[in-house]
Amino acid sequence: MANNPEVSTVSPLMATYARFPVTIVKGKGSYVWDDQGKKYLDFTSGIATCNLGHVPDVVKEKLEEQLQNLWHCSNLYHIPNQEKLAGLLVANSCGDQVFFCNSGAEANEAAIKIARRYAQKVKGTDQHLVITFKQSFHGRTMATLSATGQEKIQKGFYPLVSGFQYLAYNDFASLDLLADLKPAAVLLELIQGEGGVIPAEPEWVKKLEAICKENDILLMVDEIQTGMGRTGKLFSYEHYDIEPDVISLAKGLGSGLPIGAIIAKERVAKAFDPGSHGSTFGGNPLVTAAGVATVQHIVTSNLLTHVNEIAEYLDAELADLKTKFSFIKDIRGKGLLKGIIVEVNAAEIVQKAITNQLLILTAGPNVVRILPPLTATKEEILQFVKILEKVFQSI
Ligand code: PLP
Repeated sequence: MANNPEVSTVSPLMATYARFPVTIVKGKGSYVWDDQGKKYLDFTSGIATCNLGHVPDVVKEKLEEQLQNLWHCSNLYHIPNQEKLAGLLVANSCGDQVFFCNSGAEANEAAIKIARRYAQKVKGTDQHLVITFKQSFHGRTMATLSATGQEKIQKGFYPLVSGFQYLAYNDFASLDLLADLKPAAVLLELIQGEGGVIPAEPEWVKKLEAICKENDILLMVDEIQTGMGRTGKLFSYEHYDIEPDVISLAKGLGSGLPIGAIIAKERVAKAFDPGSHGSTFGGNPLVTAAGVATVQHIVTSNLLTHVNEIAEYLDAELADLKTKFSFIKDIRGKGLLKGIIVEVNAAEIVQKAITNQLLILTAGPNVVRILPPLTATKEEILQFVKILEKVFQSI
């Protein structure tokens, strides 16, 4: 009875999200509509997930086709879409083999597991430590929240999974500690998304890669928020002239369908032999139909050129806003992952934007995070800037 939504005043949903009073029922391109028919400009992209905009035709067509044939099939059998998507990811990255799962946290779980297994089964050591960084975010499962360098994500979930140590991000001195710690791997975001849109310094990343190479430490890059074209390249590591051993992906890979993946170098990938890891739904025919259509579109269209052009345009507009409002301290990020660093309450800005029919995000108390669809037009950027300026005037 207590759970009967007809009579109970308690929500049947657990309160893991402080939801805005908006019910979104429809989306197309850069816009969503609520259940009252109100239209919003969506510059969150479902938090870097609907990178091709909402309900993109190129993906919808492939999904509709797949819906007619087969939705699910166990990984005990060959799945053509999965093999095709793996082939596309390998052809367009520095990796050689792919494992599919269902989310970002699961992708990082797979990364952590493959790092330990590589150290123990391939190298024959007892190494297990994975180095991550302060302010990082890697997920909400027990292992990935333990990997996350933010206490607020870990509070109330102790004891954490052991085997993680957090170093200071962009800090050269902390790299001197790395080799002595003898870790199995380093896991890092090249732009810390949830942590405040903080890009890694190129020289620091190059030094980190060199230390990893010299000491046979796996370099694992979490591209869950930065991947799939978000920063103007398919993967953000391409900006840094490095070759990660493992890349974790999710969010934009399925254009909104739940999919995660890791891509690994062959020597690392072979640590996963039959029975060592798995997932019932991982890479099923439906989600990988979306993945194939998404990746194919990103790599064969001029989308990345468009991202770079539109990002430059957005940068200029944001720089202009910065000259008008003294509470804007900085603009950070790359491509269409942008953080506006403010000296006011970022949550209030987001709240006011909603009442002006614009969806944006925070990344901590003083960062307004902007994640437009990669398909956003110049006109939509202008519309965004106009609304944001109005919101800023009211702060
Ligand atoms: N890693 C990064 C960098 C993320 O931004 C996120 C989600 O925001 C995750 C991991 C976790 O992904 P998911 O929510 O799909 O588990």
